[in-house]
Amino acid sequence: MAKQFVKDVTAMDEDFAQWYTDVVTKADLIDYSSVRGSMIIRPYGYALWDNIKNELDTKLKETGHENVYMPLFIPESLLQKEKDHVKGFAPEVAWVTHGGDEKLQERLVVRPTSETLFCEHYANIIHSYRDLPKLYNQWANVVRWEKTTRPFLRTLEFLWQEGHTAHATQEEAQEETLRMLNVYAQICEEYLAIPVLKGQKTEKEKFAGAESTYTIETLMHDGKALQSGTSHNFGDGFARAFDIKYLDKEGKQQFVHQTSWGFTTRIIGALIMVHGDDRGLVVPPRIAPTQVMIVPIAQHKEGVLDFAYDLKERLGKVARVNIDASDKKPGWKFNEYEMKGIPVRLEVGPKDIENNQVVLARRDSGEKIIVPLNELEVKLPAMLEEIQNDLYNKALNHREENTFTVQTFDAFKAQLEERQGFIKAMWCGDQACEDKIKEETGATSRCMPFEQEHISETCICCSKPAEKMVVWAKAY
Ligand SMILES: [Zn+2]
Repeated sequence: MAKQFVKDVTAMDEDFAQWYTDVVTKADLIDYSSVRGSMIIRPYGYALWDNIKNELDTKLKETGHENVYMPLFIPESLLQKEKDHVKGFAPEVAWVTHGGDEKLQERLVVRPTSETLFCEHYANIIHSYRDLPKLYNQWANVVRWEKTTRPFLRTLEFLWQEGHTAHATQEEAQEETLRMLNVYAQICEEYLAIPVLKGQKTEKEKFAGAESTYTIETLMHDGKALQSGTSHNFGDGFARAFDIKYLDKEGKQQFVHQTSWGFTTRIIGALIMVHGDDRGLVVPPRIAPTQVMIVPIAQHKEGVLDFAYDLKERLGKVARVNIDASDKKPGWKFNEYEMKGIPVRLEVGPKDIENNQVVLARRDSGEKIIVPLNELEVKLPAMLEEIQNDLYNKALNHREENTFTVQTFDAFKAQLEERQGFIKAMWCGDQACEDKIKEETGATSRCMPFEQEHISETCICCSKPAEKMVVWAKAY
């Protein structure tokens, strides 16, 4: 059966990009649409997003945020208000120039992000310190006209949430910025079993219009990095551009301090590339739409299907359980649910029924165990928990094994040629060095990790005194 599979999916080590494309389509996560760079998210792909969204939405509400919805269109003049922001987004916006046959007086942008809309609204509704803080979030789609695209990782349109908050002070805004970064880190580590590296972006890599940008960076199976969530502190820059002021307790006019933060369908790309293997997708139990798939064996024999359906109902109380009672062969079903990464397969046939037992097979390790019926309610949740933890630890080990420390530019280049990963190196803080490193190696600065190490005295690029340890990588 293993052999049959290899025919379907390109081996990861042979061609990782092709492997990825095979998995997203064969696990039935997406289909391509007739618009270049746009994807159709299929029911299984959307179910994954739904679960991620529900976990995150719960956390956003627990931290005091309210959901709103902003319009899809932004007038050109509104986008122009904050200079850095418009400069950052202008090359990749989609324009609406006509309504029906009529040319519009003012062009509209299809939102690439909604800072400007929130700012305009906040200027209207915030007047006094009593109106603060405002903790709004929206779940929406955004459009960015990307030149090269890949399902989930870079598409013309993607789904996300964008939080936009306004605060009385810079301290509160900073606290919020880091709080939300930590919420993203929690979703990644606790639900998606993906370890994250937390840090601050350099000036070059920060968000257009932000004072500071923080990120969680994750490492994929092939040693490339993926920016998996960002949180920005805007200071009062946007407030000055949009005139968002409030009367403080002393009756003085003050500008608000703002944040924004976003988490997107991109994370499904990370899920695939962190946990997947040559047999397809591997989904961590906590986020899996189906945690256990029951596959009846010799289901035409009397009593087998009834027994399997009873099991589904019984175990539905301790896990998300599904059953495939179609007339396809068990071998086909095994392949199909391995491809989809369903964490546990439960096999039950006439012999098992006779012996009061079932077989549980783990997707991640391939391990199969026989479990007595009366122990299932205990053993099954324990197995799911174990898979969750094992997946996280495996990903963490992989990241540790592929994190390298270098002290010279030559060693940096040699490392990238030998094996990609996170590369820790010292940097002087000058953008010219950052540019040069990118130009000569293709690696970008991923972040200045919160946990700094003192690797050497000087910048690897220019040999001037070093300011920060930066983690570099080639990235998606
Ligand atoms: Zn330098």
